[in-house]
Amino acid sequence: MHTDITPLDIEEVALRWRRTKIVATLGPASDTAEMIEKLFDAGADAFRINMSHGEHDSHRAQVNLVRDTAVQKQKHVAIIMDLCGPKIRVGRFEEEQILLEEDSEVIITSRDVMGTPGLIPSQYQNLHKDIQLGERILLDDGNLELTATAIDGTEISCRVVHGGILKNNKGMNLPDSSLSVPSFTEKDKRDAKLAIELEADFVALSFVRDKDDVLNLQNFLQQHGSGIQIISKIEKPEAVTNIHEILACSYGIMVARGDLGIELPAERVPLLQQELIQLARDYSRPVIVATQMLESMITHSRPTRAEVGDVASAALSGTDAVMLSGETAAGKYPVLAVETMNKVLREIEAHQWKHNSFGDAKKIGDSTSDILPVRDAVARATLNLASDMKLQGIIIPTRSGTTARVISAARPSAPCIGVCSDIQVNQRMALNWGVIPVLVYEPQTHDWRTLCELINKQVKLTESGHTVLLVSGFNDDPALNEPVIKILMV
Ligand code: ATP
Ligand code: MG
Ligand code: MG
Repeated sequence: MHTDITPLDIEEVALRWRRTKIVATLGPASDTAEMIEKLFDAGADAFRINMSHGEHDSHRAQVNLVRDTAVQKQKHVAIIMDLCGPKIRVGRFEEEQILLEEDSEVIITSRDVMGTPGLIPSQYQNLHKDIQLGERILLDDGNLELTATAIDGTEISCRVVHGGILKNNKGMNLPDSSLSVPSFTEKDKRDAKLAIELEADFVALSFVRDKDDVLNLQNFLQQHGSGIQIISKIEKPEAVTNIHEILACSYGIMVARGDLGIELPAERVPLLQQELIQLARDYSRPVIVATQMLESMITHSRPTRAEVGDVASAALSGTDAVMLSGETAAGKYPVLAVETMNKVLREIEAHQWKHNSFGDAKKIGDSTSDILPVRDAVARATLNLASDMKLQGIIIPTRSGTTARVISAARPSAPCIGVCSDIQVNQRMALNWGVIPVLVYEPQTHDWRTLCELINKQVKLTESGHTVLLVSGFNDDPALNEPVIKILMV
């Protein structure tokens, strides 16, 4: 029987799909049909729309283009709509941007006006009430720094400590002040309603502090009849302190390094990033590493070696996804940026496959306890089977995506085919490490063998006579867990 098995290039089969996912932020540089198609082809798995920039009309058009392209390309991709939260920002400038010269004086005003050289409008109307003399004002993820030297009504005079170009709507951080901004703003409500209307797969919640922030948004979404899932952006020290409760009630997290590196000393970010990735996996939650990953590609066609190293190290730490922000939203080389990320990730993964080290980044379970929880034990068994048998695929029929998340979190060497009849679950699975979402019709999912044959035919996973693994049966409610592992020959 074994004689008619065609020899397979296992490496080729197993590495057909990239495991670490790529999130691309859409913006003026990338939101035409043509560009979105190119970003799909370059390898984007999810698209982020930052509600801090642009208008509802442009967001609506972006979502429609992504969904249309997904149908055309027959690829499930996730849409993440990012709420601005209580981030305070500068307003707009008559000439889109101004130059801040070191040691010069500038005025920040809380009046609703267009900015000009020397005058920076603040979108936050109470800025002059919250700020004190001598306090620092950081702009654009901390690239520029001012200190307040005088306050006169709505006008705050500042000295430029570190200058540079300041563009429309850039963020402002006040590390020395305490602000009276609510965490879920009126604008966030309007934006969340748009995300519901457009059936986004995820909303990202900025400046999460604790579980109440997450539950508050969850209630809002539920009240509006939406099951959109929440990705909590970890960018405040409080969120780090409360990370366990935040992970427990969020669908996933984002390591939002831009604001995180201002709210905390930047040198703490790398180790924290590793810890957050580890913890997210312990909770079977997808994690996205974001901000400045290929920052220099906003203006240059080649990344710095340090940026390449940053993408590689995030992948080696086992992140689910890496994200591009300004690179794809407003940069000169959006497609090249995605292609670059793809190449770096591919290189790392080929090495990991060769050395059988995909799952190494995490030791499943706590070695001090004798009995592993079911979830960890099944994940570990799957991991071992996949590497011991050099399997070409793990087929995961899943209703809510939970089983796919559990198995993905163990980072098995074989690609995970997440099989579901719900298109939105498939779109969400696009964010999970190593998961390839495949849509099936409900009646086909009862007989595992038929299902495997069908999937195998559809995605050309392996040739007949070879084995695949099937794992199913995890539920969000652990009391309903009925995990199944099957080894099937196709
Ligand atoms: P956040 O803290 O949410 O990351 P951000 O201002 O850093 O906010 P990013 O989404 O990281 O925004 O994007 C980086 C930059 O790309 C923005 O500061 C902005 O200049 C530009 N950008 C992003 N989206 C848009 C858009 N829709 N329209 C115009 N510019 C955009
Ligand atoms: Mg941020
Ligand atoms: Mg950013």
